[in-house]
Amino acid sequence: MAYKIGDRCIACGACESECPNAAIFQGQEICEIEPARCSECVGFCDEAACLSVCPVEAPEPDGERVESEALLLERARSLHPDRQLPELETLPASLSRFRKERN
Ligand code: SF4
Ligand code: SF4
Repeated sequence: MAYKIGDRCIACGACESECPNAAIFQGQEICEIEPARCSECVGFCDEAACLSVCPVEAPEPDGERVESEALLLERARSLHPDRQLPELETLPASLSRFRKERN
């Protein structure tokens, strides 16, 4: 699922530059995430980078957008055609929070 940013966001902007997919932008009052660009950081690191830098823990999984690891990896691949991302079968735990949670 994509992440979303909750109301406690103070629009500090710290997460914007951390997103590997440039999915975060300044909304009218708080920062927002473009769901079609969020891969839950699958393909890049083992946690949601936006959440890890947020001082108020505003980013959270969007329960209304449940998506598989395979779909999220494919999204990362389509957003970064220039990068050689591993196949799902060989994706290391360091590149997917799904695998970190499983281990
Ligand atoms: S979870 Fe990762 S890909 Fe999604 S918005 Fe946050 S930093 Fe970007
Ligand atoms: S780091 Fe947190 S508080 Fe700052 S803009 Fe991002 S979601 Fe909002």
